[in-house]
Amino acid sequence: MGLEEQLKAFCKSIGLDCCGIAPSPTGTGCAVVCLFPYYQPIETQRNLSRYAVMPDYHMVVRSYLLRISAFLQEQTANDFSSQVYCDNSPYQDRGLAYAAGLGIIGQNTCLIHPVYGSYVFIGYIVCESLDLAPDKTLSGSCLGCKKCRAACYGGALQEECIQVDRCASYITQKKGILTKTEQSILMKNPLIWGCDACQEVCPHNQSIPITPILEFRQSLLPFLAQEDLLPLSGREFRRRYQQRAFSWRGKDVLLRNLTLKEQNGI
Ligand code: SF4
Ligand code: SF4
Repeated sequence: MGLEEQLKAFCKSIGLDCCGIAPSPTGTGCAVVCLFPYYQPIETQRNLSRYAVMPDYHMVVRSYLLRISAFLQEQTANDFSSQVYCDNSPYQDRGLAYAAGLGIIGQNTCLIHPVYGSYVFIGYIVCESLDLAPDKTLSGSCLGCKKCRAACYGGALQEECIQVDRCASYITQKKGILTKTEQSILMKNPLIWGCDACQEVCPHNQSIPITPILEFRQSLLPFLAQEDLLPLSGREFRRRYQQRAFSWRGKDVLLRNLTLKEQNGI
């Protein structure tokens, strides 16, 4: 069995069944790319994006990537340098996941995996001077139904790109006073952190399996109310929510979004 197959078998043994190899974005070595599916049905009231309901994925993804990196180092007698990334690199993760044969890019600009749809986090390891054979990219495209565009609150989805300043997800995370246009986009979005609309309507996301990753099925927090945040100092907020993907922004942005919605009776 070649190292490529051993690597994928190892990933499977730790619960990751979406692992691929892409050419390295640095031009040297390769990139090992993994998907971390996170979909799960949530029956209770929710005002946080699906990705933010579970414990912070950055920590979870990083811990898996470090295990994979250690496995590769062991197999190669520490013969290369590696760097793990999850939302913290200059390289475009969706492009790498596509190049690693893990999915296609939809008109909603998300990577779409054939089984898990677009509810996947992407993590990868750039392995300088480790030359593993890259996987083949998947052929085809998304269904092209344009439901994502019709559902988009800000009209942010353009031909093959997203106009970020009209994206409700970006606006929920933006600091400071919002413009009237930003406020009106925010009002259409039922969430106070993130936006799921262009993924919820996508046919590729219907009937997908629940996340196989145990860490994403525990300690769920789907809803935040003003009463949860108002009594907290900044420090208390960070301490209480330090394991949540929204905590880096601080409580003021969340409170602003909640207040705007309350003022508008939403
Ligand atoms: S996340 Fe929401 S606002 Fe942003 S592109 Fe998708 S549907 Fe539009
Ligand atoms: S909603 Fe339709 S057009 Fe948009 S990404 Fe999904 S399949 Fe493609």
